[in-house]
Amino acid sequence: MGKPEPNNTYVCPDCQKAVTAEMQHCPGCGRLLWIVCPGCGMKTRAYKHCEFCGVLLYIRCHRCNKPVYFDNQYCANCAQKVKDRYRILHHPLKDNA
Ligand SMILES: [Zn+2]
Ligand SMILES: [Zn+2]
Ligand SMILES: [Zn+2]
Repeated sequence: MGKPEPNNTYVCPDCQKAVTAEMQHCPGCGRLLWIVCPGCGMKTRAYKHCEFCGVLLYIRCHRCNKPVYFDNQYCANCAQKVKDRYRILHHPLKDNA
């Protein structure tokens, strides 16, 4: 830690292990490192921000206030089930209207 990372390296949103842009799955926890952006619908790597529209892909746990990746079901810190996780992003989904 401490030295700048090459920009094809980022961290797994689940386990914070360093992964590279070539990886499909995290070698630490096995999560898929591709997600569909809730903002623009594009398939993007599990970066902090969408590669296409730039939306922040982390939300805050409403219980412990730690960052949680938007597609995680549970907070990795306190195990609170993440509710309304899409609504916090800039394209809130409508409930069945
Ligand atoms: Zn991981
Ligand atoms: Zn996007
Ligand atoms: Zn939490």
